[in-house]
Amino acid sequence: MPTVTERPIEGLASCRNPRCPGYKQQPVQAISTLTEFSYFDLGGDVPGIERAAELIRFADPDTDESCPACGEPRLVSDQTRPIYPNVSGVAQDALLAVQKDAERMMDMQLTAARQEAEMAQMRALMERQAAALDRQEAVIAELQQRPRGPGRPRKPEGE
Ligand SMILES: [Zn+2]
Repeated sequence: MPTVTERPIEGLASCRNPRCPGYKQQPVQAISTLTEFSYFDLGGDVPGIERAAELIRFADPDTDESCPACGEPRLVSDQTRPIYPNVSGVAQDALLAVQKDAERMMDMQLTAARQEAEMAQMRALMERQAAALDRQEAVIAELQQRPRGPGRPRKPEGE
């Protein structure tokens, strides 16, 4: 029979979801269950422990197990979660930002295309206006070259 030892410990609870505000480890009361198999237990004939397994669980699962932020079941451990240096130089959430970057790029391209279309419309409008102005000038020039009609008396000069 294995030896089972239970003892209360200071545990660290954290949400499983790295995006959840509850991901940061929090101290909680926990219980460690150490199950030890001796060589004798496993049919051997020397003293000592051949294998052991430690299980850590919440002392008060009703209060502490669910994440206060998202309500999902949390992990409990006796070890501080390691923080590894970022040697890749790529942000940890780079993959999550890929979609957002793509959307931003699309937006920028769309905006550029819209601006270009507006500029083209403006250019066309200005060309039409210039053409209209040319026609008006031509009409005015033609009218100025026509002889004056007989029905309109000249103003006497000097009055
Ligand atoms: Zn959570």
